[in-house]
Amino acid sequence: MSEAKAFVAETTADGRLVYLSAAARPAQPGLEQALTELLHELARRSYSELHGDRVRFDALRALKAMGFAVEDVEIAVSHRCPQCGASIQLNPEAVVYVCPYCGWAGDVRGGRVAVRVWPAGHRGLVEELARKLGGEPVSVELLYVPFWVFEASVEAGYSATVVYRKPRPVRAYGRSPYYETRYVRERVRVSGRVRFRTVRAVPARLHAEVFGGEELRLWVERKWSFQQPPILEAEEAKPIAPSMLAPELSAEAAAEAAVDELEDAAADEARRDAGRRAPGYAEEVELERFSLSVSVERRELVFAPYWFFTYRKGLGLYSGAAVGSEATPLRVELPLSTAERAARLAGSWLAAAASGLAAELALRWQVEPLALLLAAGLGLLAAAKLASSAFAPAKVG
Ligand SMILES: [Zn+2]
Repeated sequence: MSEAKAFVAETTADGRLVYLSAAARPAQPGLEQALTELLHELARRSYSELHGDRVRFDALRALKAMGFAVEDVEIAVSHRCPQCGASIQLNPEAVVYVCPYCGWAGDVRGGRVAVRVWPAGHRGLVEELARKLGGEPVSVELLYVPFWVFEASVEAGYSATVVYRKPRPVRAYGRSPYYETRYVRERVRVSGRVRFRTVRAVPARLHAEVFGGEELRLWVERKWSFQQPPILEAEEAKPIAPSMLAPELSAEAAAEAAVDELEDAAADEARRDAGRRAPGYAEEVELERFSLSVSVERRELVFAPYWFFTYRKGLGLYSGAAVGSEATPLRVELPLSTAERAARLAGSWLAAAASGLAAELALRWQVEPLALLLAAGLGLLAAAKLASSAFAPAKVG
C-alpha cells in the first residue's frame, strides 16, 4: 500500500532541535500537505510528548477529523545537528552528544559544550591484561564514559558537642599508696571553621554502575588532579563519536549531586575538626550548628576511555573492565558457574536497556535481539544490583 510522507525541521516546546517525520497509509490527495502541517503543530509539544502511542493516536484522530481515510500513521523524531544538519538518533534521556558526522559537541538545544577526553591508548595493552589473568582475549571493546567534573571550594562553620575520654590519675591504696590511671568521660562545646578545595566527579550516565561503578569515578578524580585531558577538537571527535556514550545527566543535576556529596564530606571534616579540639580522646561528636558554602569554581565534561573485554580461560568465558591509556584494571570477573553468569549478564542487560544503552550496544556489539528480550523479563532493581555483581573484584598479577 502506498503511503504519504512528510519531514520537517523544528524546535520543540522545550527547545530541542529535532527532525520530525511522518508516514501515513494509504496515500491520498492533500495528505502530504496535511501531514506536514500536523508535524509543525506537533513540534509545539515538548520532546518527551513526541514519543510513543499517544502521539500516534492524536495524529490519527487529527487526520480523520480533517476528512482523511487513514488507516495508520507513524511519527518519528530524531535530533538535528545544528552545525551540519545530520539526523542523530539518541536515546530519549540523552542531554549532550557529539555529532559523528562533523564533530560538533553540544546539548540537545543546540548550545555548544566543550568536552574533554583522555586518550584511550592501545587495545594491545588490554589483550596483554587478559593474558596476565591467565586467559586468551576474545573481544575488546572501547567506550567513552562521560563524567561531570567539578572543582569546588568548600567552607563550613560549625559548633558541636564533643564527648571525650580523659585520663585521670586516681590515688589507690595498697601496701603503699600508688596512682592508677582511670578514664572519665566529659563533654565540651567547641566551634570552628573548616575549608578545603576538592575535585568531585559525577557520572553523567544513569545506571553508571554498569561501567566500573565507583572505581571508575575514583579513577577520574585521581587522574584529573594530575592530568587534565585536552578539549576534543572536531577532527578528533568524528572517529570516536560512535563510542562516546551520550551524557544523560545535565550539568545542573550533576552539580546538585556534587554539592550534596560535598556537604556530607564537609560535615565529616567538621566532626574531625571538632574532635581534635577536645582536650582528650573524642568518642562522639554531635554537630549542633552547621553552615555550609560550596562554590563551584570549574565545571567540565570529561570522557574516560573504558575498555570492556572478554577472555577465555579453560572452558569458561570471563569479562573484565580496564580504564585509560595504560589499561588500568578496574574490575575483573571471577570464575562463576554458567548459571550464575547467565543470570548476572541478563541482569546487566536490563540495567543497560533501562538507560537506553541497549540499543547503542546492540548496534555496536551485534547482540542477538533474543538476549535483549530475555533481559526485559527481569526486575529493574535486581538487575542493577546484578549488573554490578557480575564483576567481582579480583587481583591482577
Ligand atoms: Zn554535525
